Amino acid sequence: MADLTTLTAAETASAIAAREVSAVEVTQAHLDRIAAVDGDVHAFLHVDAEGALEAAARVDAGEISGPLAGVPLALKDVLAQRGVPTTCGSKILEGWRPPYDATVVTRLREAGVVILGKTNMDEFAMGSSTENSAYGPSHNPWDLSRIPGGSSGGSAAAVAAYEAPLAIGTDTGGSIRQPAAVCGLVGVKPTYGGVSRYGLVAFSSSLDQAGPLARTVLDAALLHAAIAGHDPMDSTSIDAPVPDVVGACASRDLTGVTVGVVRELGGEGYEAGVEAAFHASVEVLTALGADVVEVSCPHFPYALPAYYLIAPSECSSNLARFDAMRFGLRVQVGDAGAEEVMATTREQGFGPEVKRRIILGTYALSSGYYDAYYGQAQKVRTLITRDFDAAFETVDVLVSPTTPGVAFPIGEKADDPMAMYLSDIASIPSNLAGNASMSLPCGLAGGLPVGLQIIAPPLADDRLYRVGAALEAALDERRGATLLASAPSLTARP
Ligand code: GLN
Repeated sequence: MADLTTLTAAETASAIAAREVSAVEVTQAHLDRIAAVDGDVHAFLHVDAEGALEAAARVDAGEISGPLAGVPLALKDVLAQRGVPTTCGSKILEGWRPPYDATVVTRLREAGVVILGKTNMDEFAMGSSTENSAYGPSHNPWDLSRIPGGSSGGSAAAVAAYEAPLAIGTDTGGSIRQPAAVCGLVGVKPTYGGVSRYGLVAFSSSLDQAGPLARTVLDAALLHAAIAGHDPMDSTSIDAPVPDVVGACASRDLTGVTVGVVRELGGEGYEAGVEAAFHASVEVLTALGADVVEVSCPHFPYALPAYYLIAPSECSSNLARFDAMRFGLRVQVGDAGAEEVMATTREQGFGPEVKRRIILGTYALSSGYYDAYYGQAQKVRTLITRDFDAAFETVDVLVSPTTPGVAFPIGEKADDPMAMYLSDIASIPSNLAGNASMSLPCGLAGGLPVGLQIIAPPLADDRLYRVGAALEAALDERRGATLLASAPSLTARP
């Protein structure tokens, strides 16, 4: 059998179910791959070899079966996993081992998915490059001198470097889709409320959503189906059936589907190579039978400023719980009192971007400024939702480039928060409105991957997979291979 780390999740699960290979062998092959390449990639903050091999042995013993049984996965370090270090990429949580599992983790265990370890991320998911991690950046397997995106950069790097066929990321303003785009992967932000947030350490509770990263659309769908669905432990979880995302992947023809190209998400500020790859893929959508039209969403240019008031406001409230008393780090100097311990711990435990957001958010929520900033941003959020509602009266899905540029060199934007924030200009509207949204690889620019974003109305996640699967198949056929197979260095595998 070929190198076990090059199989898709679907292929891995069927090889295990057919007993052609054991789950323990598959897990060991990925642990070996991590040992061989993660010194360069730095996708993982913690590898749980023992826990992974135990989970794999349970699948081999026949205790668990199903479409992902025995498939390894990399878990973003923002999700609680019982007994396993969970840092959120922050010093302030160093040494914290959660006493419970996130619902996503529980569902993965029930599906027989093998969790290999916890992946690197921007501190508390604030960033677009993993450079805000307190534990050093991850590297893009396409070019190790470049960022793998963020904040779920470790998860994306792990999948692109074949350290795991699947990963879980979280997306508050683009943190699944942007890393997927710059690493040549499929990444999905499910409908807000589609996947439980119980046990997901909160950054911005009205925006946060966990979702899949994978090398194929079908693999993303299998993982999406495994983690989605109502959870009474999350008050914002939607009590409705999960759309048939796996069934939707059978689609190869888009006759009868209307696709809207968002006028405001392109043009100025977008790299020429990104635009070229995007527009070439839109032509493929037409060739597949889709009816492609241009759509205007006039309030989208205000999404980024609104997001940078709403997300920091919620973060300033959510991160108040890191008070040196309940979790992780506690800096006790001499006989300092509680207030001083709290202040010193927060000063030493949080990095500069997290502090910037807490200060911004606290300011935006303060009584004299609440209406002018937070209140105003919420009104803009409503206008953006209305833009989507109007668009979806005439189209089934919207498309755009996922990001304005390809993976940039590590360090290039590290001292320029505004330039970093602009990485998410195309992804943020979907978070503000709660839509389902996917990024899938659509081509290369300067030898680096470009992502195409598909946006569907809330609860119509299956449309992402219908359009995504058809486009992926057509692009692979034209290329004669998957995009990853054409990559250099760590992404190119036999
Ligand atoms: N890059 C955006 C931010 O820094 C989005 C982060 C995310 O989606 N978690 O807030």
